[in-house]
Amino acid sequence: MARVEYTEWTVPVAQVGSRPGQTMDLNKEFPAPSGIGDSYVGIKENAPVQVDGHFDSIVDGLIFMGSMTAPMHAVCARCDVDIDQDLKRDVVAFFPYESSRAEAMNGRSSRGKNGKEQEVEIIAGEEESEDLYPLIDNGSFADLEALIRDTFVDALPLQPTCRPDCKGLCPQCGLDLNENPDHHHDQVDMRFAGLAALKQQLENEQDED
Ligand SMILES: [Zn+2]
Ligand SMILES: [Zn+2]
Repeated sequence: MARVEYTEWTVPVAQVGSRPGQTMDLNKEFPAPSGIGDSYVGIKENAPVQVDGHFDSIVDGLIFMGSMTAPMHAVCARCDVDIDQDLKRDVVAFFPYESSRAEAMNGRSSRGKNGKEQEVEIIAGEEESEDLYPLIDNGSFADLEALIRDTFVDALPLQPTCRPDCKGLCPQCGLDLNENPDHHHDQVDMRFAGLAALKQQLENEQDED
C-alpha cells in the first residue's frame, strides 16, 4: 500500500466518511499551492486561500460544496496597472472512496445494480467538472491541494482588467485615459492633409504680397 502523505492540504474527514448522510463544515485557510498562473496573472504560492463549505457523505464518497477565495495579482490588459483583488469561486467536487474510484473513473457506467449506485451517479452527474479528487487512508482524509489549484487555474481571467470599464491607454501617446477622460488628439483626415498644407502655403504667399 502506498505511503499516505499528509500535507498542508490534508483534511481529516473520518467523522463523516463512515456514515452516509453526515455533514462536516469546513472553514479554514490553506496556503495556495504552486502553479496557479504566472507573474502576469495568478495567485502566489503560499498566499492565503480561504475555504468555506461542507463535506456531505454519500455512499461512495464525499461531496464538497462551498467557495474558495484567494488574492489574485494581475496586470490590467488595457492600462498596465497592477491589480490586486480577491478571486472567489463556488466549488462542487466529488471525493470518491478508493474502492469506488476505479469504477467512477470508468465513466460511471449506468448499469445500476442497485439504487445506491444510481444515487451516486445522479449526484456526480450534476457536477460542472468531471474531475475527481482523492480520499486517502481509507477515506480518513481528503486532499484539497489539487482542488484548490484546479479551481483557481480555471478561474484566472484571460484578459484581466482593473475595472470593467477601464478606458485603457491612448493609442497615440500612451496617456492613461482613466485619469484623463477628456484627452484626445485633433484628428487630421489624411485625405485633406495635403489640401490643408496647400491652403497654408497660399495664405503665407498672400501675406508676403
Ligand atoms: Zn486598466
Ligand atoms: Zn494621446
